[in-house]
Amino acid sequence: MNPQVFNTPVDYLKGVGTARAEVLKKELGIFTYQDLLRHFPYKYIDRTRFYKIRDMDPELPHVQVIARLMRKEILGEKHTKRLIIQAQDDTGAMELAWFQGIKWAEKSLVIGKAYIIFGKPGMFNGKAQMAHPEMEPYSAEALKRMGNLTLQPGYNSTEKLRSFSLDSKGLQKLVAILLDQHVRDIPENLPLYILQKFKLMGRADAYRQIHFPQDATMLHEAQRRLKFEELFLIQMRLLKSKLLRTQKFKGNVFGTVGELFTTFYNELIPFPLTNAQKRVLKEIRIDTQRGVQMNRLLQGDVGSGKTVVALMCMLLAIDNGFQACIMAPTEILANQHYLSIKGLVGDDFVQVGLLTGSTKKKDRKVLHENLENGKLKILIGTHALIEDAVQYQNLGFVVIDEQHRFGVEQRSKLWRKAAVPPHVLVMTATPIPRTLAMTLYGDLDVSVIDELPAGRKPIETIHYYESQRLQMFGFIRREIALGRQVYVVYPLIQESEKLDLKNLMDGFEVISHEFPLPQYKVSVVHGKMPAADKDIEMQRFLKGETQIMVATTVIEVGVNVPNASVMIIENAERFGLSQLHQLRGRVGRGAEQSYCLLMSGQKLSREGRIRLDTMVRTNNGFEISEIDLQLRGPGNIEGTQQSGVLDLKLADLATDQELLLQARKCVEDIFARDPQLALPEHQVLHQASTTKSGGLTWDKIS
Ligand code: ADP
Ligand code: MG
Repeated sequence: MNPQVFNTPVDYLKGVGTARAEVLKKELGIFTYQDLLRHFPYKYIDRTRFYKIRDMDPELPHVQVIARLMRKEILGEKHTKRLIIQAQDDTGAMELAWFQGIKWAEKSLVIGKAYIIFGKPGMFNGKAQMAHPEMEPYSAEALKRMGNLTLQPGYNSTEKLRSFSLDSKGLQKLVAILLDQHVRDIPENLPLYILQKFKLMGRADAYRQIHFPQDATMLHEAQRRLKFEELFLIQMRLLKSKLLRTQKFKGNVFGTVGELFTTFYNELIPFPLTNAQKRVLKEIRIDTQRGVQMNRLLQGDVGSGKTVVALMCMLLAIDNGFQACIMAPTEILANQHYLSIKGLVGDDFVQVGLLTGSTKKKDRKVLHENLENGKLKILIGTHALIEDAVQYQNLGFVVIDEQHRFGVEQRSKLWRKAAVPPHVLVMTATPIPRTLAMTLYGDLDVSVIDELPAGRKPIETIHYYESQRLQMFGFIRREIALGRQVYVVYPLIQESEKLDLKNLMDGFEVISHEFPLPQYKVSVVHGKMPAADKDIEMQRFLKGETQIMVATTVIEVGVNVPNASVMIIENAERFGLSQLHQLRGRVGRGAEQSYCLLMSGQKLSREGRIRLDTMVRTNNGFEISEIDLQLRGPGNIEGTQQSGVLDLKLADLATDQELLLQARKCVEDIFARDPQLALPEHQVLHQASTTKSGGLTWDKIS
């Protein structure tokens, strides 16, 4: 047993050598034995059956034939240069063609010899042809090897690698050599009892089976084992860093529920809390009593009532002698938070301040003073409130709204605002699937408000085709006659900003033309407008001076106009699901029935149709985010792009949710029972997390 073996440079493997090692590094990032072992097949091909040349049909997938090479010639010059080899079996003849790697193929393939030829049948000038087939000299032994493999691994390769004979076949040979020599050196890195509990294949077996599966069942088991391991190791890392953080940072203790909280709850709050809101408050209550710094992500759909939860947490902090702040990504949002908090607590209950980029110098000075002397209890603002000049007397609780815009850097800046880092609550209205949250924010605790306040009428969503535009106009008229307001939103795609702006302006023209009467006033807002103009237009709409707001997606984030009852989304098929859902969340904020009209062209892609159907079917942001994940894969979900965490080789967060939940639970249990990983059965993990080589670090993941 020698796990170090796997850090051996790939140069040392029999059949590699310096030149090939160089291209393996350059082209595939394969530096060591373990890198090679972790270059997993991307497909498996059934090679149990042999075809005859007579049966070559371009409709067939990759097939194999046994044929003799009869004649070869090099045709054309430079760019048209190609090697053509005639091959023949007892049923007919076909052409094998090489457009690249000609020199190598010409040299190594022997006329008169029989080969096992594997490739995709094609047709050229009425003749059966195969381009760049894999060639294996025919022998009884080779045939037996093929026959024993029901599923042949297919490996990604490149032109460059192929010129070094490292096509899929060549890579397969290297992996075979490596496994033959060292499969027994592959150390198990999961505790035995976990293998037993989840009926997981041993690690060495799994590596062999994933490269050279005995049959489909074994392949599946090998994949399951290695996926589990991948997810398990990520969770180990995340939960370990959480553990370390909680050990390192003390947290403020909010020991008492005091005057402000109680009074607010008993006298001021204008509605009963939903069960979900109560649950989240309880979670935070528990967190803030433990003497450990809280880092919690609060997810909840637009309108689910996150603000009041945040407010009550802040009151709790103040009751315990601390200050609190809310940081919002834009001034508009900071303003809105300020107004809604003021709306909830009134003027005299607790001192609340607003600090943004446009706060006057004079006011700023007063704010700073009152923050430092502790009079000001709640500060709401933009980035401005983490500027160095802003000093708190005793900051104990921080709310961050919309986490996507705040990096870790900014968060840590906040931590340094007090001797003991404040508790942090990150709120987001972009629900992400549980599995993603667990992987992306695995070191945060996650709370979810999955329930809307009672009495809220679900937004009704209708999909209209272009041909039904008149119905849409009718809709607008009817709602405006009822005193309501309407959004019309156009997509904005970076690459064609000009075209988008034109679409928007055309739309504005059409609307203005369609609604010429004085009772219809139309606002327009887009990203190219000066901020001041944008603000004026927004304000006009907010005050009800205009009835229709034609806009690009700049209105997406956070704008609250309760009287707006219709959201019309033009070219809805061009929006992603999460964006559609965010836009829809702009309406349905008052007591009246609200609508979302999705306008699309007649022709829709399959995905486009699924997106629109999903929107029509459900208002549930979590359900929508799950479907988004299925459609687009984890890498494309908003906010995940820069996260190395999602660099999974085998597991798929969309389809392997069950496995992830199992792995997560497993790791939680381990740390709960044995945080030092000191038990004998955890030895294998302990080593892994403390030493640089061997054990877990055998893998790059750890
Ligand atoms: P979010 O920030 O989650 O989008 P808000 O906190 O802005 O949602 O709440 C949306 C609206 O619902 C606000 O007007 C708020 O006062 C109201 N609200 C919040 N909680 C409740 C509740 N439990 N019952 C009734 N209305 C509520
Ligand atoms: Mg909000």
